[in-house]
Amino acid sequence: MARVTLEHVTKRYEDVTAVDDINFEIEDGEFVCLVGPSGCGKSTTMETVAGLTKPTEGKVYIGDREVTNLAPKDRGVAMVFQNIALFPHMDVYENISFGLRLRKYEDEEVERRVERAADIVQLEGMLDRMPDEMSGGQRQRVAIARAIVRNPDVFLMDEPLANLDAKLRVHMRTELQRLHRELDTTIIYVTHDQAEAMTMSDRIAVLNEGRLQQIAPPLECYNEPANLFVAGFIGSPSMNFFEGTLIEDGFETRNFTVALDPADVPSATVGDDVTLGVRPEDVHLSRYEDSLTQPSRRIDARSDVLEPMGDEIFVYLLLSEGGERSMDRDAASSPDQLLMSVTPDTDIAEGQDLDVVFDKANVHLFDTETGEALADGIVDIEKPEPDSGQQVTEADS
Ligand code: ADP
Repeated sequence: MARVTLEHVTKRYEDVTAVDDINFEIEDGEFVCLVGPSGCGKSTTMETVAGLTKPTEGKVYIGDREVTNLAPKDRGVAMVFQNIALFPHMDVYENISFGLRLRKYEDEEVERRVERAADIVQLEGMLDRMPDEMSGGQRQRVAIARAIVRNPDVFLMDEPLANLDAKLRVHMRTELQRLHRELDTTIIYVTHDQAEAMTMSDRIAVLNEGRLQQIAPPLECYNEPANLFVAGFIGSPSMNFFEGTLIEDGFETRNFTVALDPADVPSATVGDDVTLGVRPEDVHLSRYEDSLTQPSRRIDARSDVLEPMGDEIFVYLLLSEGGERSMDRDAASSPDQLLMSVTPDTDIAEGQDLDVVFDKANVHLFDTETGEALADGIVDIEKPEPDSGQQVTEADS
C-alpha cells in the first residue's frame, strides 16, 4: 500500500499539453478513478505514475519516495491495460507466474502467490487452461491475477474493461470493488465511462483538456460539481443549463425566472452573467410541488417527445412556441428546452401543456464566463427558511 502524490505534473508534446499542472494526493488504499473525455490526459497522467512517461515538469511520489526518474520496475506498481496481452502458448498458471519466474522466485513461493491470486479473481480450477479456451472476462482476470502476484503497492488500470461486452463490464465492476476490498491496495483506474467511475471509486478525479477539474467522492462531484464541465460530464442524461442574469430578486433567463436572494450567491453581483443548472430528476410537475422543500415558480412548458427507458421516462419539454430543439440528451441543452425525468407510471403524453417546477434545493448556479460553481441549492426569498430541514435532522440524529 502506498500514497501517490503528483506535484505540478505537466507533460508537453511538441504542440500539445497533454497534462497541465496536475496536483493531487491519493491516499493509501484508496480507489481513485481518473475520468474525462477522450484526449483529456487520463492515460498520460497515469503513465507518469507508472514511469512509462517522464513529466516535462513536476514530481511524482509513491509513498514518501520521489519516483519521477525511476524505471517502472523500481516503482512497486503493477499495470493492467485494456488490451490484454497474454502469452497464447502458455496456460493460465504460466501466464500468471511468468514475471515471478523471470525474477527467479522459489517454486513454492510462485505456487503460493499464483494460488492466492487465482483465488481472489476466481480462476481456481482453470489454471491449466489456454488463453484461447477462455472468455474475454476470464482473460482479463488472468491479467489482473498477473498483476496481483507481484504484490504491488499501487495498481494502475487503464480502461481494463473497455473491450468487454456491457453485461460483463458491469459484472467486472463488482469484481474489482471486491478485489479492492480484499487487497486493500491503492488503485488508480482510468476510464472515460462516468458510470464506471461513479460506482467503483472512493474518489473520482475529473480531467478536461489536461487539467484537473475536481477530485472528490462521486456523490460530491454529482451534488456539488466544482464547475460547468464537471456538472455536465457527471450524470446521465446531462444537467440542463440555462444562461441568464442575476437580477434583484432572482435569476432571469429567456423563458423563465427563478426567485432567489442574490445575497445567497456571495461571489456574484446583480447584473452578472450566470448559468443555472438543473438535473432532469430535479424537474417536477407543479402538482407535486408540495413535496419539495424549495419549489421554484411555475414554468410553462409543453411536452414534446417522450423517451421511455424502462425504469424512467425522459420528457423533452419545450419552453417556448417554435423554440430551438436538441434531441441529444448528453449535449448542452437548448435555451428553449428542458429535459425532465419521470417515473414510468406518468400520465404525461406528447404535445400536452404542463407547468413544471424545479426543486431549488438542488439547483446549481455557475459563473457563465469562468464556469466556476457559485451555489448548490438556492433559497426562495418568498419563503425564507433560515433553519433548513437539514440542520434539524442533524441536530436530531
Ligand atoms: P486520454 O487518456 O484522456 O484519452 P491521453 O493522455 O492519451 O488522453 O492524451 C492526452 C493528449 O495528449 C491527447 O491530445 C493526445 O493526442 C496527446 N498525446 C498523448 N500521447 C502523445 C504522444 N506520445 N505524442 C504526442 N501527443 C500525445
